[in-house]
Amino acid sequence: MIRDSFNRIHNYLRISLTDNCNLRCFYCMPEEDHEFTQAFKLMQPSEIESLAKTFVTEGVTKIKLTGGEPLVRKDAAQIILSLAKLPVELSLTTNGARVHDFISVLLQAKIKSINISLDTLIADKFHTITRRDIFKQVKANVDLLLQHNITVKINVVVMKGLNDMEIVDFIAWTKDSPLEVRFIEFMPFSGNRWTSNQVVSLEEILTLVASRYEYLPLQGGLNDTAKHYQIAGHVGSFAIISTMSAPFCSTCNRMRLTADGKLKNCLFSESETDLLGPLRNGEDVLPLIHQCIGDKAKALGGQFSGLFEHIDASTIHNRSMITIGG
Ligand code: SAM
Ligand code: SF4
Repeated sequence: MIRDSFNRIHNYLRISLTDNCNLRCFYCMPEEDHEFTQAFKLMQPSEIESLAKTFVTEGVTKIKLTGGEPLVRKDAAQIILSLAKLPVELSLTTNGARVHDFISVLLQAKIKSINISLDTLIADKFHTITRRDIFKQVKANVDLLLQHNITVKINVVVMKGLNDMEIVDFIAWTKDSPLEVRFIEFMPFSGNRWTSNQVVSLEEILTLVASRYEYLPLQGGLNDTAKHYQIAGHVGSFAIISTMSAPFCSTCNRMRLTADGKLKNCLFSESETDLLGPLRNGEDVLPLIHQCIGDKAKALGGQFSGLFEHIDASTIHNRSMITIGG
């Protein structure tokens, strides 16, 4: 078991495969020119498998692949298929651009659920946000996954004046499509120009939903980061990830391994523990894992607390989101 000093058991590992991406979402990529990590510094497939096995022997039951964009890695299929052999629930978070190229691999790996990031239902706005013109492809790939009975969760980072007016349109999508739309509060990371007035809070999201729909709260799971809701008569549902206005740190069970093999005990932790270097030197990484999680702060990486409206993002020391893996 991997347990922290607040008795939280950590059984969920998110592995970033790369900090490279085929989109350029303005809220995720750092402001300055981002230099993608050189290939030799990235964990290799055998190293990912070896580290994942170590976590599994310590009680990890769920692994999610992320990035950057996990499906831009040339050896992504090899990695997915090797991790699929482990006794874990394997899933991934992707921008959806290349899902059609990977559908047979996803089926072979028996992936049951995938998160697709899609912040708008308007093609022009998609281009403004991502600086790429592949809205239709992403939408088609959502349908492709549904056709294959893979559960799709749509990740929507909500930002004031950008897409908050589309919340009801996303909910309309769940009327006939069995999707879970997950509205995510905008979070501060290195270089992403976060200001508190761009955040659309849980309460504001629910007010916008209530302007058109009556919603019912649903019972959530023990370690859920999302609060779940249902509209009567909709086959899909929606959820809100309220990291900024109502954090869920007390039940956190997540660990994050960056593409260059550093373990982070929190999305917002300043410190990180190198596992890849010691692994390459033939050292035992287990004590390092326990030490890293043992040092986890009670909440939000120990970097901020209180009302998000008072956060000064310039005082937060962290990586950019694209180099952590959300
Ligand atoms: N490329 C993949 C994708 O877009 O799904 C995986 C990596 S991406 C970093 C993982 C998730 O983090 C995405 O849903 C993305 O929208 C979200 N994300 C990125 N920056 C964020 C921020 N500043 N606040 C909240 N969510 C963010
Ligand atoms: Fe790429 Fe995902 Fe970040 Fe967008 S959110 S830039 S798709 S890693």
